[in-house]
Amino acid sequence: MPIYEYKCVNTECAATFEKQLPVSEFNSAQVCPVCGSGSEKRVANVGFVLRGDAWPGKNIRIKDQMAAKNKRITAKQNERKKDAPMVTLAPNVDGERVSSWSEAKKLAASKGKVTKTYDALIRKEKRGNT
Ligand SMILES: [Zn+2]
Repeated sequence: MPIYEYKCVNTECAATFEKQLPVSEFNSAQVCPVCGSGSEKRVANVGFVLRGDAWPGKNIRIKDQMAAKNKRITAKQNERKKDAPMVTLAPNVDGERVSSWSEAKKLAASKGKVTKTYDALIRKEKRGNT
């Protein structure tokens, strides 16, 4: 269920609060949890329903897809960390380990590769060594 944000219409309270509601009920008034005022209005939906989109059902699907994607990415990252924590940081050219990013650039150049991407890493490396 999407989460909607409400604002208390009692100006002395003006609390904002979130409520998880079925799409069919988000327009109904909610009771303010702070002052108990009965008339609240919806400010915006938060969570996964995109603002200005009249098709909540579609957004729910997108949200699910994004959640699944994020889950896959996180799992992949965790796996990578577990397997070889230094792999992403270690100087390498296509996985071939070298002693430094300067060496990596030379190796990349000898392979006829674009070396521009190594410059930032070399700068970072030099900063790290001093
Ligand atoms: Zn209130």
